[in-house]
Amino acid sequence: MCGILGYTGNRQAAPILLDGLAKLEYRGYDSAGLAVADGEEVRIEKAKGRLSVLSERIEGGKTLAGTCGIGHTRWATHGEPSDTNAHPLWSDDKAVIAIHNGIIENYRELKEELTGKGYSFYSQTDTEVAVKLIDLYYKEDNGNPLSALTRAMRRIRGSYCFVILFRDHPDEVWGVRKDNPLIAGQGKGESFLTSDVSAILQDTRQVYYLDNMQIARLRGGEIRLFDQDGNPVTKELSEVTWDAQAAEKGGFDHFMMKEIHEQAKAVRDTIHSALREDGTVDLSSMKLTDEALRKVEQIYIIACGSAYHAGVVGQYVIEDLAKVPVRVELASEFRYRTLPLKGEGGLAIVISQSGETADTLAAMRLAREHGLRTLAIVNVVGSSIAREADNVFYTLAGPEIAVATTKAYSAQLAACYLLAIQLAKARGLLLDESGLLAELQALPRKIDDILDEKERIRQVAERFAQANDAFFLGRNIDYAVAMEGSLKMKEISYLHSEACAAGEMKHGPISLVEKGMLVVGILTQEALYKKTASNMLEVKSRGAWLMQVTHRGNDLLKEDADFTFYIPPTDPHFAASLAVIPLQLLGYYLAVARGVDVDKPRNLAKSVTVE
Ligand code: GLU
Repeated sequence: MCGILGYTGNRQAAPILLDGLAKLEYRGYDSAGLAVADGEEVRIEKAKGRLSVLSERIEGGKTLAGTCGIGHTRWATHGEPSDTNAHPLWSDDKAVIAIHNGIIENYRELKEELTGKGYSFYSQTDTEVAVKLIDLYYKEDNGNPLSALTRAMRRIRGSYCFVILFRDHPDEVWGVRKDNPLIAGQGKGESFLTSDVSAILQDTRQVYYLDNMQIARLRGGEIRLFDQDGNPVTKELSEVTWDAQAAEKGGFDHFMMKEIHEQAKAVRDTIHSALREDGTVDLSSMKLTDEALRKVEQIYIIACGSAYHAGVVGQYVIEDLAKVPVRVELASEFRYRTLPLKGEGGLAIVISQSGETADTLAAMRLAREHGLRTLAIVNVVGSSIAREADNVFYTLAGPEIAVATTKAYSAQLAACYLLAIQLAKARGLLLDESGLLAELQALPRKIDDILDEKERIRQVAERFAQANDAFFLGRNIDYAVAMEGSLKMKEISYLHSEACAAGEMKHGPISLVEKGMLVVGILTQEALYKKTASNMLEVKSRGAWLMQVTHRGNDLLKEDADFTFYIPPTDPHFAASLAVIPLQLLGYYLAVARGVDVDKPRNLAKSVTVE
């Protein structure tokens, strides 16, 4: 969570930091702060609320002169959002000033120890404890930043990335990371430290991805890296290929709507990345040979949030096409289970847009410890999960800024389909995959066709702008889509919604159905169409207002549905990719109708790097 940025060079730091933080604000936005060094003096400004509050206060950076500085947007974990708890945090004499992403698990004991040594604390954050620990070692080691940081790293438990200014080294920015991302950007006569490349794309594409437990020292255009013992490390520069434009709204009111419209491209690019010229699937770039696929006896799909929902779709498709048993696990649960994991023949597929999701990363490490092969489906190149997994399937969705995922989710589905097809082929269960691949390649056009009808969904959303509750029902793949539709709705529009396997309604949830309640049924799986249609009628009899997403020709609810959205025909295995689009639109338009900040819903952050 949280956005982190550091700059040192010959330009004024504050406007650069504000500009970059604006691109990171999706990562956390309950408060923001800047520290800028001007010779021996370091000035700090911070404010509760959105970045714009801070920006106004410091007149777009004009009031903070200096060419070296750090900036932060916070997503509070320890201590309420407030001016005091906002970052940067500092040692009493302001010798050490830092911003932090993550959680320090042993902050209580460290605090006690530091209190015993005469330190006092002005904030409720875990971060301040780390700052004062660094300060202690900094003073003990005669003002040597590198040894202070290496000593502090040995003591601090948890996950973190810190970016630090030392007052007596006014042209330097220091960074350390453990389990949270940190990237150093190389410019001409200047350099950057950030938690996410989108903050620096307009200035440089040459970056170093710091490894875990590495330290960076930036001074003007010079970047030096060290290991946790303070030894120098050499690393190759990487070139970022993402388009800087992708981090702009491009004429749409919100990033979310822009990204909804980028889905056809995300799906098309992801599919093409795994197809040969002759049209067959090629997973060789992720080093997945047919022989390896034949050996798979059990798959665990591990993920959080929408990526988990993509995994549930993947489960149905893989089991049906490739006949391999699949368990889908929430990463936050999986990592603390005592599962009898089977290393031999086991494949753990972890799915994460950012590649930094803390729970997913931990779950993947656990799977590796048990000897499972790990395959990561991630969007961000060079992310922690991508670097630690045995094999990587990159989704090509480009940068996703809106907190509520749309195009990354769609690209994850495409990756799951391709894997399922190749698993089935390798295992001799699919003799001719050309029909499925043709259907797959037709998905982007059909997604765009659905978007042409978005106005119809907006009208439904306006009708329910004042509603309190909604249900999403479906069976099989449609149930997986129901879960995603429901999450979209609740996360951005704050309308309480639940997904329910359609057959489960009568076992309890149906008691919640009231006159006029919105119930959205997803009915794309022909084999189960009649069953779900009956469940829809059951809720209709209890007063529900029915919206159905289905194919033309499915007429059982013709008289009873209050609103029908037809999706184009497709192979049932891929129907989730089409059915989810009207549900994303429904969530989006409801949020707009309810006046919610669509791209930055309350209490949420995009890349969940804390447990
Ligand atoms: N744990 C720190 C805090 O609550 C940092 C949170 C973040 O990553 O934004 O201030």
